Amino acid sequence: MRAGGSLNPGVSYGEARAGAKALALVSLLFTGETSKEPLFSLCAKYLHDFAKRLFCGREWCKRCGLDESDMHKRRYARLMDKVFYLGDIGKNHGLGYFVFTIPSQIREKFRSKGKLSRAGRAVRELLKSHDFDVGLSRWHYFGDGEITEGELDAGVYHPHLNCLVVGRWIPEKEMRVIKEAWRRLLELVSGESVDVVDVHYQYFKSQSQWWHKGVYVTRSTFKRLEGHEGLAERLFGFRNLCYWGFGQGEKREAKLKRGRVVLGLWLDDVKGKEKEEAMTRKEFDELVSMSHMKCLKCMEQGELVGIITYQDFNGCRKVEDLETLRPRIERELSGGFYVLSTVILNEKPMSSVEDDTKSLEGEYDTS
Ligand SMILES: [Zn+2]
Ligand SMILES: [Zn+2]
Repeated sequence: MRAGGSLNPGVSYGEARAGAKALALVSLLFTGETSKEPLFSLCAKYLHDFAKRLFCGREWCKRCGLDESDMHKRRYARLMDKVFYLGDIGKNHGLGYFVFTIPSQIREKFRSKGKLSRAGRAVRELLKSHDFDVGLSRWHYFGDGEITEGELDAGVYHPHLNCLVVGRWIPEKEMRVIKEAWRRLLELVSGESVDVVDVHYQYFKSQSQWWHKGVYVTRSTFKRLEGHEGLAERLFGFRNLCYWGFGQGEKREAKLKRGRVVLGLWLDDVKGKEKEEAMTRKEFDELVSMSHMKCLKCMEQGELVGIITYQDFNGCRKVEDLETLRPRIERELSGGFYVLSTVILNEKPMSSVEDDTKSLEGEYDTS
């Protein structure tokens, strides 16, 4: 269907209330990029409306791929409770950070989803066997200057797996065992002999470092598509971010809640330079709610209500451009989300108001 257009004509208030799918009240927002997934969200229960910018999310996108882009913010906002949980849960309150790199002579073997997944799984098993029972991992595809000494050229494929775990001190002997296991794994996966491997480990005590790590791990590194089209194709649909040990259901929720509490206290408390890098508590909470599709307005009333994507009667998601929607924007949130005003339902065509109110009750003025 065509992007743009106005509110659906001919939908009565009663019909609109009838079910979530019939909520034709809302228009949505699409700006900029030529992509696809039209998306608009709204509160399923009380018709609180929100709009969400649509992004392609590609690492090399001139917009999505930038550090601190809306897309990057959504990504780290969803991650941060887990990062703070990992930092907080250990005996000494610290976040552990591993980077598993792949030596240059065998990198060519790791230009596929299959190989990267296999290596990732092996690393997670390895870390579990060293009592890093909970954690998360995400690949960076290209060098990024922070841990890839001597290879600052962003154009060189340099896959390395970032892992965040519950931090602790690691004796040198244990580190040697981990490195040796990684070396053997690389030999197994690549089918070639590997002499030396590099595994980097650091342990972070301060919460601003935890924040920074969450931001850092979720950033894009595949910043330039030119010359890497084949690789991009092979990585298409790769599920890069992986978690382990958080459990499910109530157990998981309890962990994440703890992470959110610690994170919230820190956000309330950050000052000075750290504050410029982080967000305000309110800004962050709103971003998280929207990223998880939870209604902000209902949340203020203490209710947890999911937001659903607006669909028209044909089951299509509806997209609208920013200019059309602008009059309805009450407030802009972080990460490309907007709070919209409620559609006024009782405006009727002037000429009909007096003689037959019933037939036009609640219909839109489409004139
Ligand atoms: Zn994009
Ligand atoms: Zn609501």
